[in-house]
Amino acid sequence: MKRIAGIALSVALLLVAVLAVAEGTPSWMPEWDRDADVVVVGFGPAGAMAAKAAKENGASTIIVEKASKEFAGGSAPSSMGFIKPYTVDEIFASAEGRLTQDEAQKLFDKENELLNWLTDNGLKITNSTSEGYGMGFYKAVVANIEAMGIEVLYETPAVKLISDPQTKEVFGVQCTQADGSDLFVRANKGVILCTGGYAANKDLMTRFHFADMIDYALAGAPTQTGDGLLMALEAGAALDGVSNQQIEWYGYSYKKASDEMGTAILHMAPSLGPDSRIFVNTKGERFMDEEMYIVHSKCQMPFLAYDGTFPIYNGYFNLPMYVIFDEAMFEAGPIGPRDYWCGYASMYNLYNWSEDNQAELEKGWFVKADTIEELVEKLAAQSGNEPIDVENLKKTIETYNAGCAETNDAFGRSEFYLDPIGEGPYYAAQILPTMVYTIGGLQGGPNGETLDWQGNPIPRLYHAGDVGQPTKILIAALQGALALGDTAGTACSQLESH
Ligand SMILES: Cc1cc2nc3c(=O)[nH]c(=O)nc-3n(C[C@H](O)[C@H](O)[C@H](O)COP(=O)(O)OP(=O)(O)OC[C@H]3O[C@@H](n4cnc5c(N)ncnc54)[C@H](O)[C@@H]3O)c2cc1C
Repeated sequence: MKRIAGIALSVALLLVAVLAVAEGTPSWMPEWDRDADVVVVGFGPAGAMAAKAAKENGASTIIVEKASKEFAGGSAPSSMGFIKPYTVDEIFASAEGRLTQDEAQKLFDKENELLNWLTDNGLKITNSTSEGYGMGFYKAVVANIEAMGIEVLYETPAVKLISDPQTKEVFGVQCTQADGSDLFVRANKGVILCTGGYAANKDLMTRFHFADMIDYALAGAPTQTGDGLLMALEAGAALDGVSNQQIEWYGYSYKKASDEMGTAILHMAPSLGPDSRIFVNTKGERFMDEEMYIVHSKCQMPFLAYDGTFPIYNGYFNLPMYVIFDEAMFEAGPIGPRDYWCGYASMYNLYNWSEDNQAELEKGWFVKADTIEELVEKLAAQSGNEPIDVENLKKTIETYNAGCAETNDAFGRSEFYLDPIGEGPYYAAQILPTMVYTIGGLQGGPNGETLDWQGNPIPRLYHAGDVGQPTKILIAALQGALALGDTAGTACSQLESH
């Protein structure tokens, strides 16, 4: 009897204890698996410097990273690792009112301080380019973070911010582990989102930039799916600088090759010419100077010309687009990236283009034919698109060749690259406009605070890097990500714990 009473008492006490905990624990608060003062989401250059600054300020720090160790780093390892010494005035101007002159000065000083720290600790920069390009840059960053003993949880994407639905105060992040289970990481001081851009998220790209879905290839990392942006929006954050001026174009890629490889396989003219290529639309018309330099360009492009005129809807009338070239160009050298130093496929050695273009021809990544009629037929069969207008295409080639003879191209193409399309055989492929990355996204305060639509900081939420850079025009990128990461890490680690 005594024994039963004892058990009943224990059960009652346990129940009271459980109820007490339950009373103090709001229903939205999970049971935490891990905790740290500062939780950094994403291990690119921004995340690395946020974690470094937090750790140096005495805060315990965890980085959660979506990719495996081999593929972590987002855009950084795919990049060229080019470090341009911008001036304070350039940084100020590029922010278009988002930074004061003082803040631009601070960003500039911080960029230089961190680049000096990295070069004192293994990073080599020659002629403004990192040794080993973006991969070399990123490896130097990783080695330093590892040496500081900062814990990185790889293959652990953050999927949701845990925040108080009333006050918006952020308490931590929900992550998914490699085995599919949840991991709840509490942040005693705050969370810093450093997840990069959203160029790999075709849904977001369409919502933000295109009236209709366009097919494009991505030369950057497939991890740029805008996770941090979406998590922050769900937590009440505001958008900023999301426009066609904030997406970066890079060049063109072979559609079939890129689809097969799951990443951009770039189209290039042979470095030593001759260059007979023309780009045409389905009508068989040219629409641009094919040599127009669009690397890191952030503007409306000729291939994005759009006609939504009522009642005839033509949409993106230059897409799909095709490249057409002749035997002389085929023979002149690789027309794709060989021993190249930029882009996801090259930096991870996913594909190296053959020296004589033969392997890719055999793969059917482009087609060959003796006549223009046959070329158009083969191209339609290969791409699954409606055939190009043959008669128009023949006229286009005639006009282009006449322009070459007169060194007077209808689209202003430089005479240096103006080689006529000779007798057959001819070659062609569908090509895709190719992106590198996006830098519009979240709106930040001067210390990297993430702001809501009223301009107020969301308590304990910070961000840095391509998830929302204050400088917008051709500028911040790698060194900006470093400096902004440091700023956010410093501010977040100075908060009192909750
Ligand atoms: C092809 C190419 C060339 C470039 N060339 C240059 C150049 O020469 N010079 C220059 O200054 N800049 C260049 N850039 C831009 C530069 O690489 C980026 O601006 C910079 O890497 C941004 O750093 P970041 O830390 O914000 O993002 P990223 O480097 O993209 O890192 C983001 C990290 O977050 C991780 N992540 C994403 N989602 C989650 C999630 N849900 N949970 C956890 N982790 C997540 C990613 O896996 C990644 O590790 C180039 C970019 C590309 C793609």
